[in-house]
Amino acid sequence: MGVRGECDLVEFCKDEDGIHLNGHRGTYSVFPVEYKKGKPKATKEDILQLVAQAICLEEMFCTEIPEGAIFYGETRHRENIVIDEDLKKEVRKMFEEMHQYYSRSYTPKVKFSKSCNACSLREVCVPKLGKKKSVKEYINNMLEDEV
Ligand code: SF4
Repeated sequence: MGVRGECDLVEFCKDEDGIHLNGHRGTYSVFPVEYKKGKPKATKEDILQLVAQAICLEEMFCTEIPEGAIFYGETRHRENIVIDEDLKKEVRKMFEEMHQYYSRSYTPKVKFSKSCNACSLREVCVPKLGKKKSVKEYINNMLEDEV
C-alpha cells in the first residue's frame, strides 16, 4: 500500500495455527492493539487505522490477522475489532486515493475539529489553514496563540 508506521502494541499469543518467531519456540498468533487517549468515536477512523496496521503485519509475517483491539484511555476499556475483507477493502481504497492525491500534488482541504487538538499530525496538517481568512488575520491569530 506504500505505507509504513509503528504499532503501539502487538501481542503474540501461543497458537498452534500461528507463525514462528525468531528466537522463540512454538507458534504465535499476531494481535495488534492501538491505544487512544479519548473514547470510542461515532466515525471509523480508529478502526481503519487498526486495520491498516493489521494489513501491514499480515504482509510482514505472511499470516492472517482476523482480530485486533483499540484501547481507549478515557473509558479505560479495550474494544475488540473483527478485521474483515470489507474493512480491508476500505483501507486499500483510501490509500489508493491518498496516492492519487500525492501524484497530482493535491492537498485536500481539512476541517478543524476537536480531535485535531490531540492529533499527532497537527503540526504537519495545520488544519486551521483550511479556514478562509485573510493572511493578516491568520498571522495575528498565530501571534496571539504564541503569547
Ligand atoms: S490535525 Fe489534520 S489529520 Fe489530525 S485530526 Fe485534524 S484534520 Fe485530521
